[in-house]
Amino acid sequence: ADDYELSKIYDLPVVQSVDERGRLTEEVTPWRGMFVKEADPLILEDLTKRGLLFKSETYRHTYPFCWRCESPLIYYARKSWFIRTTGYKDRLLANNRKINWYPPELKEGRFGEWLEGNVDWALSRERYWGTPLNIWVCDNCRAETSIESIAELKEKGEAVPDPLDLHRPFVDEVTLRCDKCSGAMRRTPEVIDAWFDSGAMPYAQYHYPFEYKEEFKNRFPADFISEGIDQTRGWFYSLLAISAFLFDQPAYKNVIVHELIQDKEGVKMSKSKKNVVDPREILSRHGADATRWYVVTTSQVWLPTRFDPEGVTEVARRFLGTLKNSYSFFALYANIDKFDPGEHQLDLDQRPPLDRWLVSRLNSTLLAADKNLSDYQITRASRLLQDFLIEDLSNWYVRRSRRRFWGAEESPDKLSAYLTLYEVLVAFVRAVAPVVPFVAEELYQELVAKQDPQAAESVHLSDYPPGREELIDKKLEWRMSTARKIISLGLAARKSAQLKVRQPLKKISVILPEDEAPQLLDGLLDLLTEEINVKEVEFLKDASSLKRLVAKPIFQNLGPRFGKKVNAVAEVIRELSAEKVEALRASGSLKLFVEGQEESI
Ligand SMILES: [Zn+2]
Ligand SMILES: [Zn+2]
Repeated sequence: ADDYELSKIYDLPVVQSVDERGRLTEEVTPWRGMFVKEADPLILEDLTKRGLLFKSETYRHTYPFCWRCESPLIYYARKSWFIRTTGYKDRLLANNRKINWYPPELKEGRFGEWLEGNVDWALSRERYWGTPLNIWVCDNCRAETSIESIAELKEKGEAVPDPLDLHRPFVDEVTLRCDKCSGAMRRTPEVIDAWFDSGAMPYAQYHYPFEYKEEFKNRFPADFISEGIDQTRGWFYSLLAISAFLFDQPAYKNVIVHELIQDKEGVKMSKSKKNVVDPREILSRHGADATRWYVVTTSQVWLPTRFDPEGVTEVARRFLGTLKNSYSFFALYANIDKFDPGEHQLDLDQRPPLDRWLVSRLNSTLLAADKNLSDYQITRASRLLQDFLIEDLSNWYVRRSRRRFWGAEESPDKLSAYLTLYEVLVAFVRAVAPVVPFVAEELYQELVAKQDPQAAESVHLSDYPPGREELIDKKLEWRMSTARKIISLGLAARKSAQLKVRQPLKKISVILPEDEAPQLLDGLLDLLTEEINVKEVEFLKDASSLKRLVAKPIFQNLGPRFGKKVNAVAEVIRELSAEKVEALRASGSLKLFVEGQEESI
C-alpha cells in the first residue's frame, strides 16, 4: 500500500510482476514462469553473486492462509469496481449527525472518524456466489451499461430465457447489443460485496422501488437498529452509504451499539486462554430469556459485559423463578376457585390499601420503565421492573396476601386480591415481553389468550402497558415504604436483642413526628404487628421517654478532690437514679451522701 501511494505521487506505472497463477511474468527474465516461492532462494543467490545482498535471515510474521484449505496466500492487486463514496462524503457526515447513537460518543468518535477517512467502496468480489454485478461490457468497444430492472433486461437482452433466473450461471448467458458498435455485451463476471446486500436491506425487504412504495415511504428511515461495535465498518456504514446516496437521509434514526462479551474477570475470551463460554451450553441450560435478561440487567449494553455463567443461573432463579412462582401461586388458587377475571370488577377505591399500593407501584414502575425505554435505557428499565417483581410483588404483596386466597368462601377481600394480582401479573408480563419473549408469551397465553377470545393472540401483538398516572397514589407508596422501613428496623432490633420473631412481644415503640403518626399507618398497622409479631404499636413524638440517663464517674477529676474516698464516691455516682442525673444536668451540681457524709459534685 505504501509503494502504491508513492507511485501515485511520482506518477509511476503499476508493475505487476506475478501472474494470476502465482508465477513470475515475462518481464522477470531469469525466472519467468516460475512459482514465486520457488524463485525466492534463486533471487537470494543472484543478489549474493552480484554483491547486492545486505543481510538474509528468517523472520517470523503473520501471514494470510486460505480459511478452507489453509494454503498460503499472496496479496495481489486486482481490478475492481468501486462506488465513489468519496464523492459524497459531506452527505455521509451530515446524515450521520442526524442519527442518535447509543453510546453517543460513537457519532463523532469511532464512526465519525471512520467516515472522515472515507475511501471509495470496493464493490466487486471475484467469487462465484453472490448478487451478480449488474454491469454489461461490450466485447468490442468496452462500452459499459448498467441494467436497472428485470423488465429492462428482458427488453434489451438477447435470447433471454423464460423464466429468467437472475442468479449465476443463468444470468451470465444473457447478452445485450451495444448501442455504439452493435457488438455483443456480456455481464462483467464479478458479484457484489455482500455488505451492499445488507446495506440495501431497507429497500430490498419491500422490493422497492418496484413494489410497496407506500409501505416503504411510511417506514423509512427505521426507528431503531442494534448491532455490535464491530459493525462500524460493516452494517452501520453500508446502510448509511446507500441511504445517503439515494435519499440524502440516514437509514436509521436510533442505533444501540453493543460491546463485546468478556469473561467474568473482564478478559477477552480466547481459545488459548481457555476462558471461552460456549453460548449453546448456557442457552440449553437456562434458555435464551435468562441469558438475555442477565446481559441486559448486568450492565449497559454498550459497555463490555463481564460474562459470569453463575450470573445467568442467578437470573434464572431470582428473576424468572420469582415470575413463574408468582404466576403459579395465582394459577393454583384461581383453578381451585374457578376464578374468571372477566366476570368480576372492583373499583380501586373499594380495595384495601395493600392492593391499592401494589397497583400504584405497578403504574409508577411502568411509567418509569416506559420513559427509560423511550430513551433507550434498557438496562435501567429492566432493573426497575425486576425490583418491582422481587421486592414489591413477590417479597411483599404475595407474601402478605397468601392467607387472603385461602378458605373456600367468597369475600370482597378475596375478590380484590384475585383481581389485583391478576391485573398486575398481566401488565407485568406485557412489560417484560421485549426482553424475555418466550416466558412472557407462555404466561400471557395462560393468563390472557386462553381466557379472553377477544384479546390479542400473542403478547407480542398487544400494546406495551401504559403507566396510568391516575392509578398512582404517591402518598400511599410513601406510607407503605415507611411502614416497611419500620418493620425492617423492628426486625433488626429483634435480631440484635436475640429475640426470635416467633416469640410475641407486648409492644413496639415507634418515634414519628406527632402529627403524621396516625394517618401514616392508617390501615397498615396490621402489617406492623404481624410482621414484627407484637401486640401493640405505640407512637412517640421523641425518644426522651425511652432514654435512661446514667452517670459515670471520671476518676481523673474525682481523685484529687476525694482522695481515699474516691471509690466510694464513684460507687454512689454510678448508682444515681435517672431523676438525680437529670437534676445534675439541669443545675450543674448535686449533693451526695457518701459513707454518711454529705458531699457535693
Ligand atoms: Zn483454499
Ligand atoms: Zn460496443
